Amino acid sequence: MEKRSTSVQNFDRYFFAGLVLAALGSLLFVLIGTPGQSNRQVAGTPAGSVEQLDAFPAVIPTLRYGFALDTFQVEEGQIEPGMILGQLLQDRGMDYKAIEQLARNADSVFRVTKIRLGKPYALLSRDAAQGPDYFIYEPNAYEYVVYHLRDALEVKRVRRPVEKRIRASAGQINSSLWQAMVENGMSFELAAKMEGVLQWSVDFHHLQKGDQFKLIYEEDFVQGEQVGIGDIKAAYYKSGEKTYYAFYYQSEDEEGYYDLEGRPMKAPFLKAPVKYSRISSRYNLRRYHPILKRVRPHYGTDYAAPYGTPIYAVGDGVVTHAAYTSGNGRYVKIRHNDTYQTQYLHMQGFADGIRKGVQVRQGQVIGYVGSTGLATGPHVCFRFWKNGKQVNHLRLNFPAEDPLPEAELPAYFELRDQYLARLEALPVAESPVEQATAQGGEQGADNP
Ligand SMILES: [Zn+2]
Repeated sequence: MEKRSTSVQNFDRYFFAGLVLAALGSLLFVLIGTPGQSNRQVAGTPAGSVEQLDAFPAVIPTLRYGFALDTFQVEEGQIEPGMILGQLLQDRGMDYKAIEQLARNADSVFRVTKIRLGKPYALLSRDAAQGPDYFIYEPNAYEYVVYHLRDALEVKRVRRPVEKRIRASAGQINSSLWQAMVENGMSFELAAKMEGVLQWSVDFHHLQKGDQFKLIYEEDFVQGEQVGIGDIKAAYYKSGEKTYYAFYYQSEDEEGYYDLEGRPMKAPFLKAPVKYSRISSRYNLRRYHPILKRVRPHYGTDYAAPYGTPIYAVGDGVVTHAAYTSGNGRYVKIRHNDTYQTQYLHMQGFADGIRKGVQVRQGQVIGYVGSTGLATGPHVCFRFWKNGKQVNHLRLNFPAEDPLPEAELPAYFELRDQYLARLEALPVAESPVEQATAQGGEQGADNP
């Protein structure tokens, strides 16, 4: 079989999950908003808080970035190609030394080199003839940076107040979660966060038609607009006969997601080393090899994903190999403890700093998906070693983690029961039966 072309690289990152998955289908996704409920203000300096002076007639100023904009001449837009802050300011009469000083002052707050194309900015001038007084840049909807262009040339980063609204979603999966999310225009961020919460217990490469999920989560609002997803508070996932629950709990000493019994969701190993991928070849001792054209055991699990997809260390450990062989291509091997090692083959490249002897944490990016070595397409061949032998990690069972300390349990159970009641009240719309499409082909397979 020929090497596959690298056209996969051109896939839009936000859609690759949907595109690499061949199954068709759809997801019924019910979004049940509960606006006005459980709103609370969180950290942040209220932008533009102004003292109320009752004695004067109220003239409501246009407040933005903490300034009464009516008192300035405002020039605003989006950062364009080739736009450099230094040049922009020099063109408006600011002297070079002051610009240099400003850039130095910005280093510890928000480096001017981090200013990105397409992001909003504004220049505020009290008197246009004198040049601008402030440059304001918005790296994202949650915050903005004020560069003072006079006097001490201060730079300040301001967090906007975020309003958290509690939302609930429930749905049924008819193919892949990722494809369904993309197809239905649902939030990729929410799907990613759900996977994040359940990644130690649910194998998202094993989703079955008819799987159901329910989520209670925060939506972040800034200045009345929904800007993102906050934390997932509770998650339920049903796959076949198995059900999984995760509840977010925080106390003085403990923080994280816990199951029905108060055991941490976090386990020593992640279920998979890549996200949004699909298994293209399983651990199989009698596998017909697509390149060698004969039966040779496959001691790993192949996850097909586009070139450059990050590969994560599935557990904490020490890198014992970051090397190249003609069969494995670029590969990393990690020693987790006396019993377990994991290995990741065919990488396009290693992540920065990944070399022999380096400590890595669970979830740390160690490299990127490629097709180096004996591989027909971009994928990572993931191998799990137990006591020096390669085993099928999808069949491994690990001892359960210890639950929260006794003293924490009553408070945890109370919270859990509140979430449980809300989850139970959430309806899941069932979808019409659709034909599952078989995934075939040998792409993304590799050497034994
Ligand atoms: Zn493999």
